[in-house]
Amino acid sequence: MSLYVILIGVQGAGKGLQAKRIEQHYGIPQVSTGDLFRAMRARTDGLALKVQDIMASGRLVDDDTTNAIVEDRLAQPDAQNGVILDGYPRNLVQARFLEEHLKAQGSKVDAALLLELDLYIAFKRAFGRVTAADGRSYNCYFNADGVDFRWIADEEQAFPPRLEAELARSSAALKRRPDDASADAVIKRIDTFLETTQPLITYFDEQGILRKVNADQSIEAVWADIVRVLDARSG
Ligand code: AMP
Repeated sequence: MSLYVILIGVQGAGKGLQAKRIEQHYGIPQVSTGDLFRAMRARTDGLALKVQDIMASGRLVDDDTTNAIVEDRLAQPDAQNGVILDGYPRNLVQARFLEEHLKAQGSKVDAALLLELDLYIAFKRAFGRVTAADGRSYNCYFNADGVDFRWIADEEQAFPPRLEAELARSSAALKRRPDDASADAVIKRIDTFLETTQPLITYFDEQGILRKVNADQSIEAVWADIVRVLDARSG
């Protein structure tokens, strides 16, 4: 039985992590249009140059190009039993295209999985996050064990305090992404998510395929809920 899942969640909802688990558990690849477009950076053909230009400006790639790239990806051998879509569809035109495309193949979107997270928590998950060299992530609000966090005030008080962090046992410095360190950038990312995603959530709800999972739980508890929801899909 095939499984087509659309993964939706604000930054910090744990989409990347749970997508990996879905991938392994259900044997379907994660398809991120952002990743597909980023992979075009290595190319110099006309389409790739156009996409690079659009991405550099922060705009969305046009629907025809995006749909064609998704169609091509869904035709690959590893995607024949379904996929987890991440970052697609981004609007109703794309959602309807996907629906038609799958219908023509005798398939359908099985679930639009919304990882629900309170936006205040989403803000703290991004703003308080730092990452170690081995990829482990810590957070000064939620996951500070073994890490020394310090807010360093600007002497002149001209700028907000800076968050610094190091591993207590090795004093290794932890890194904070520049776009996490700017409160304004974090807020803009949340706003963009709300603007683009809300119409889609309404649409999937009307289609009867919206499935909500509370993302404000442990990783294991979120995963257990996801499996329950996906296993309960109608055949
Ligand atoms: P993301 O990693 O999902 O934030 O995507 C990075 C960039 O890729 C976006 O800013 C857009 O320029 C482009 N992109 C990704 N997915 C889509 C989509 N579904 N529709 C249009 N543009 C997209």
